[in-house]
Amino acid sequence: MSRSAHPAGPRHADVLTEGHYTAPPADLNVLDEKVWARTVSRNDDGAVTVGGIEVTRLAEEFGTPAYFLDESDFRARCRAWADAFGPGADVFYAGKAFLSRAVVRWLKEEGLNLDVCSGGELTTALDAGMPAERIAFHGNNKTAAEIERAVQAGVGRIVLDSFQEIVRVSHIAQRLGKRQRVQIRVTVGVEAHTHEFIATAHEDQKFGIALAGGQAAEAVRRALTLDGLELIGIHSHIGSQIFDMAGFEVSARRVVQLLAEVRDEHGVELPEIDLGGGLGIAYTSDDDPREPHEIAKALGDIVTRECEAAGLATPRISVEPGRAIVGPTAFTLYEVGTIKHLEGLRTYVSVDGGMSDNIRTALYDAEYSVALVSRRSDAEPMLVRVVGKHCESGDIVVKDAFLPSDLAPGDLIAVPATGAYCRSMASNYNHALRPPVVAVRDGEARVILRRETEEDLLRLDVG
Ligand SMILES: *Cc1c(COP(=O)(O)O)cnc(C)c1O
Repeated sequence: MSRSAHPAGPRHADVLTEGHYTAPPADLNVLDEKVWARTVSRNDDGAVTVGGIEVTRLAEEFGTPAYFLDESDFRARCRAWADAFGPGADVFYAGKAFLSRAVVRWLKEEGLNLDVCSGGELTTALDAGMPAERIAFHGNNKTAAEIERAVQAGVGRIVLDSFQEIVRVSHIAQRLGKRQRVQIRVTVGVEAHTHEFIATAHEDQKFGIALAGGQAAEAVRRALTLDGLELIGIHSHIGSQIFDMAGFEVSARRVVQLLAEVRDEHGVELPEIDLGGGLGIAYTSDDDPREPHEIAKALGDIVTRECEAAGLATPRISVEPGRAIVGPTAFTLYEVGTIKHLEGLRTYVSVDGGMSDNIRTALYDAEYSVALVSRRSDAEPMLVRVVGKHCESGDIVVKDAFLPSDLAPGDLIAVPATGAYCRSMASNYNHALRPPVVAVRDGEARVILRRETEEDLLRLDVG
C-alpha cells in the first residue's frame, strides 16, 4: 500500500516511519521529575499519586481518559516566571495552551497577565474576572466584532498583525471614542524549533509583518499617524518548544534595530518589546529545559546589550510562555485496553483515548513518555507503541516507549507533560467525549472542565 496515497496525507507517512528510541531505563518504576508535575510520586504500594491522591482513586472517581492538573505546580510556575522577570517586566500566559475559568483565576491571583487570540478566549478571561488591562489580544485574522469587543472591554493591548488590521483597529477605536494601546507583530526572519534555529528563515508565513523590505518600518509609520492608536511597542514570536536562546538573541537584535530606526525617523522611542513565547519543556528525559530565572537573565542581558549599542533606553520587556507554564503540570490518565504483539514488528498498546485528546503526536510527530501508574512492576521492559481507539492508523499517542512486559488490560498508564495543547486542541473525532480536566491540590481533586457527555453531542446536533 502506498503510504503517500493515504487520505491523511504525507504527514501520516512520517508518523508511521521508524522513530528513534534509546535503551530502556534501568528501572521503569522511576518517574523522572523533569517530565512529571511536581507533586507526582510513587507511594509504598507502588501506585502513583498526585497532590497526595492515588491515580487508582482518581480513575474511579473521574473516569478515564482524563487530564489531572497539579494546581500547586501551576501556581508555583506562575510565581517562578513572575519573580524571574520582576516588576520591571510583564509575563503574559498564552491562553491557547490551556484556558479555563479556574486557570484565569489562578493567573490573576499569581500576578500574571493573559494572551488571548479569539472571542471565546476573551470571553473566558473576562468572565473569570481577569482585568481587561491585563489582557493582550492576538491573532492574524481578528474579526471586526472581536476587535470591537476587545476595544470596548479595554484590553491592555491589541497586537496588530497586518496593514489592514492597523486601519481596522484605528477605525473601531475612533468610532468608540477610545485610544487603543497596540503593538505591531513583526516577523524577524528567525525560525526556532527545539534545538535549532534558522536566522535567515524566509518570510513565508501568515503571522506578522516582515522586517525585511522595510515593511515593519512602514507599519510603524502608519500606526504612529493614525488616530485611535497608541503604539507602545514591537512584538516578535519565533517558534515553539525552543531550548536554544540564540534564536531570541537574533530576534531581539533585529527588533532593537527597528526601535533605533523608529527613533531616527520619528524621534520616538517605543517603550516596550515583547519577545513572545515558545520556551521548551521536557516531554522525555532527553529534553533539558531552562529555568525561568535563566531565561529572564538571558533575555534581559541581550536586550540591554543591544539597546546600549544602539544608544536606546532599555524598553520594558514582556514574554508569553504558554507551554512552559501549563505543559509540565498535567498528565493524561488512560486505561489499557487491547494489547497486540505483532511478531517481529511491534507491540501495540491501545488506550481509551487517543488523537482526540492528544493530536500533537499525529500533527507534529511529537515525542512523549509514558509509565504504568496503577502499580509497580519489575517485569522486563517491552518496547511498545501506545495508540488510541480512533479509526485512523495515525492515531498514535506515544510512538516508541518502554512499558513492563506484564502490562495487562485494565492497568492504568499515564502520559506526562500533556498540560499544553492537548485539551485545548482536543476534538470530537468519532464522537469522542472530550475528557475532563481535574485540578488536584493538597489531597483534594476538583473538576475544572467537565467531561463531555452524549447529551452534549446530541444538544449540538439539532436534527
Ligand atoms: C503560541 C504563542 C505563544 C505561546 O507559545 P508556547 O510555545 O506555548 O510558549 C506566545 N505568543 C504567541 C504570539 C503565540 O502565538
